[in-house]
Amino acid sequence: MYQMTNKYMHFIANWKMFGGLNSLNSLNKVLKFFKTFKKNKFTKIVYCPPNTLIQAMSKKLANSQIKVGAQNCHAADNYGAFTGSVNSFMLKNVGAQYVIIGHSENREIGETDKIINLKIKSALKCGLKIIFCIGETLQERKKKITKKVLNKQISLGLSRIKDNKNVLIAYEPIWSIGTGMIPNPKELFEVINFIKKKNKNYKVIYGGSVSPKNINQLKLIDNIDGYLIGGASQDPNKFIDIIKKSYI
Ligand code: PEP
Repeated sequence: MYQMTNKYMHFIANWKMFGGLNSLNSLNKVLKFFKTFKKNKFTKIVYCPPNTLIQAMSKKLANSQIKVGAQNCHAADNYGAFTGSVNSFMLKNVGAQYVIIGHSENREIGETDKIINLKIKSALKCGLKIIFCIGETLQERKKKITKKVLNKQISLGLSRIKDNKNVLIAYEPIWSIGTGMIPNPKELFEVINFIKKKNKNYKVIYGGSVSPKNINQLKLIDNIDGYLIGGASQDPNKFIDIIKKSYI
């Protein structure tokens, strides 16, 4: 359980609804750090800013190894009368290469497993890579039905999809998002193992309050393929610190 050498790790920055054009300046530090980072061959960084910044960020990162993603998309393949929405083709058109789908903050406002499945299919069709979020509530955890919940989210969300190259599963316990709480290492190791056993050859990352303070604990869980980082990713110093500390 406790060993990690030269393992390929993903660091997905989810800026949520934060940031204006001036926030792009914070990428300078990350770009500088990443150029000389010893493990950069084993590291994939993806920034997922609000849609308003995707194009400018893609231009800024064009000559780097750092990729850009969106935080959500509409399920339709074509243009349509969906006020306020943007589909995956439109996101790709302005530079996105990844998209987060199924985040609990969207599930909470009505996004169903069925819609998630349609979104993933549409995004894969246009060549985006998917960060597919799953996770249980605190109540479900207390009832000890975490595995059942995750199984259902995966089987419905990935229904008729077999693409372990382009879909990354992000295990994000809802009770740990933005709360500072993380699962205990043994529990987290077991859940990640469970997901991997049921879904062969999928990479599984962890998300929920990842920070420079707890990364030394998290990095010891060797079946995790990276992290989805919300709050801490908005601060380049914290984000860099997490990346640096993630390797043993
Ligand atoms: C997230 O938004 O996916 C997330 C994990 O947020 P935080 O790191 O702030 O808990």
